[in-house]
Amino acid sequence: MHTLQYTRYYLQHNYYNMSIFDTTIGLIAPHYCIGCSRPGAVFCKECAFGTTQLPSICYVCAKATKAHTPCSVHNSPRALKHVYTALSYEGVAKKLMRAYKFDCKQAASKNIAFVMDLWLPYLEQNSVLTWVPTLPKHVRQRGFDHTKMLAKDFGILRSLKPVATLDRVTSTSQVGANRAQRKAQLKNAFAIRDGAKINSKNIVLIDDVVTTGATIEACTKVLYAAGAASVSVVAFARTP
Ligand SMILES: [Zn+2]
Ligand SMILES: [Zn+2]
Repeated sequence: MHTLQYTRYYLQHNYYNMSIFDTTIGLIAPHYCIGCSRPGAVFCKECAFGTTQLPSICYVCAKATKAHTPCSVHNSPRALKHVYTALSYEGVAKKLMRAYKFDCKQAASKNIAFVMDLWLPYLEQNSVLTWVPTLPKHVRQRGFDHTKMLAKDFGILRSLKPVATLDRVTSTSQVGANRAQRKAQLKNAFAIRDGAKINSKNIVLIDDVVTTGATIEACTKVLYAAGAASVSVVAFARTP
């Protein structure tokens, strides 16, 4: 492990204030844009404006739809109302998310939120903004909850304060499994957090990358069972 990475890892696990720490690290070793190598942000605004918006498609089968709804085959009264995804998960979008999640570049959260804000439509102000909870072991490894942080930074841009509504109650990783396997693994993976107010609310769930859709569907099922009026997803990217 690189000395700087180690120092960072060590400090993260000693409960330092991460925003100050991240700023300090930025001064010592500035970020270089993963798109154009310019020093400053992990992903600069110029590169953000240069990304291509993902059109409205069904999140399951990629068929063209209107208003980011599922197609008629994948729609039902208890399906996700809208799945808004900003980009296709390839090229620079993939590099950016991997830098954020696997190189633990926390500063990328604001850059990712910026891209999401850029391409995603207006959300009703009476929506409850929440997020897909990350596996506790991944939060421990990274030193931060990447989806919660994304919800916070996206919420700042949209004047919505995120609230925790879900807990992760099983610890199976989803990497590599297909849609059917993931669905089976995720049965009972999520539960409503004690005290969360879901009944009659329009829920907007933040996720990082939509792959098979099994994770967001598992969350949606629990939220509808708790009385949600509607559930929509806002995600950075969708696996092509
Ligand atoms: Zn750039
Ligand atoms: Zn479909």
